Amino acid sequence: MEQVIIIGAGLSGLALANSLEHHGIPYQVFERGQPTGDQGWSLSLHFGWHALKRILSQERAAAMPRQGVADCSNPFGSSFSIVDLARNKVLMQMPPPEQRIKGYPDTPPAFEVYRINRKRFRQWLLDGLGEHKVTWHKQLLHYKLLANGGVEAYFDDGSVVKGAVIVGADGVHSKVCSQLMGPDRYADATTTNPVQVIVCNRWTSADEWLSVQDNMASSVMGYGGKAGIFCTLNDVDHVLHPDKPYQVLCAVSTLDLDPNDIPSSQQGLLDTAQKIIVDNAYDPANPVVGLVRNASVDQGDVLTYLTVRERSPDTQTLTATDGRVTLIGDAAHTMTMYRGEGGNHAIVDAVQLGDALSRAYQQEISLVEAVQSYLQEMLPRGATAVQASHEAADLLHRSPDKLMQIILQQIERNQAPPNNHGQDGNPPSNL
Ligand SMILES: Cc1cc2nc3c(=O)[nH]c(=O)nc-3n(C[C@H](O)[C@H](O)[C@H](O)COP(=O)(O)OP(=O)(O)OC[C@H]3O[C@@H](n4cnc5c(N)ncnc54)[C@H](O)[C@@H]3O)c2cc1C
Repeated sequence: MEQVIIIGAGLSGLALANSLEHHGIPYQVFERGQPTGDQGWSLSLHFGWHALKRILSQERAAAMPRQGVADCSNPFGSSFSIVDLARNKVLMQMPPPEQRIKGYPDTPPAFEVYRINRKRFRQWLLDGLGEHKVTWHKQLLHYKLLANGGVEAYFDDGSVVKGAVIVGADGVHSKVCSQLMGPDRYADATTTNPVQVIVCNRWTSADEWLSVQDNMASSVMGYGGKAGIFCTLNDVDHVLHPDKPYQVLCAVSTLDLDPNDIPSSQQGLLDTAQKIIVDNAYDPANPVVGLVRNASVDQGDVLTYLTVRERSPDTQTLTATDGRVTLIGDAAHTMTMYRGEGGNHAIVDAVQLGDALSRAYQQEISLVEAVQSYLQEMLPRGATAVQASHEAADLLHRSPDKLMQIILQQIERNQAPPNNHGQDGNPPSNL
């Protein structure tokens, strides 16, 4: 059979490439961006890692915590807390401070959770691929199903590539998904969540960051009033940033802003984020609140306004294909970040599709049967996840105490044996 064409070298596309490499299936990845392109900030990796490890050699799996995480000196130290920002009260810490792991233990914890640095994790994913498997600066324009079998991909540089199947791993604004669904159906299916998010990225001092990490956790979900702040570590660099070695993300979010009132300037965005914490009476003594209060555009802190899109997997369109085109990751199911699961589902998709395709390439089943078996597992899992992440975004900003109860239940499930995770269509969450 001919090669698999993968569109997009994000998490899902590169995880699929690793899986196809493992199964010995021919493939090519095409990415519109560049190898050094930023892939966003950091991300909590939990059930996706347990799926991915299945197709990795022990050596490759062992290399990841040293190469792909936000703080490579403390890869297993990921911790999470929920904080009431108005009362400056830590409500929950997971794990409790006395149980946190530091450095490199002989045996990693049973259920590994990592805060990965997306740029380094992407490089680690690329390290698992053969040479010249990714072609950069190549943007898919459209694809064509051929009358006598196979598919052709048409790119912006005028080139055409032929394969047996095309996989859209091209994210939220997926060209493959849009063509597959048809532009009108695609536009109707892709909605904008009412939550408004302003992300502040700062390089900060050890004093400032460690007062958050030591007193709360390496990832903090803070709430109060009708807003929230998610705060986490992106990167640590003592060489390039000796005075401010910790790069931290603070995402300030609310339902109370009209998108038309969001300013476009950096200073305007910072003023808006700082006004949200004042309007919701957050305690200035809380270190997470301090990170936003002390942010400064003049000091190089970077503000970004995020539009949060959602799209449930389109069962009707996906199951109607003959297996020559399919979707994984955000292209298949776009969800809010309020359960920290989109990237984990993207990886589970990639591993599941890789397994299914390997059976087709070994001629045990047909291509259409392989893709349908992948969809059978992915569609309900993806739809449940989109819905659950929508509810999490809503609860955080309207009824955070209820969200906390749900998170505590999920954490209890996290402590179940690892082989239960991600198998039941409702994997555990770790924001
Ligand atoms: C603030 C924030 C925090 C998040 N936190 C978490 C978290 O903690 N845990 C978690 O699991 N998830 C998290 N997510 C979600 C996660 O980032 C996404 O689910 C994940 O990146 C999806 O991966 P993907 O490969 O499907 O898409 P992407 O990462 O978007 O990759 C798509 C790739 O396709 C390329 N591409 C697009 N169009 C074309 C084209 N036409 N031709 C060629 N290439 C193309 C793009 O350049 C890109 O490289 C978060 C998201 C946000 C916004």
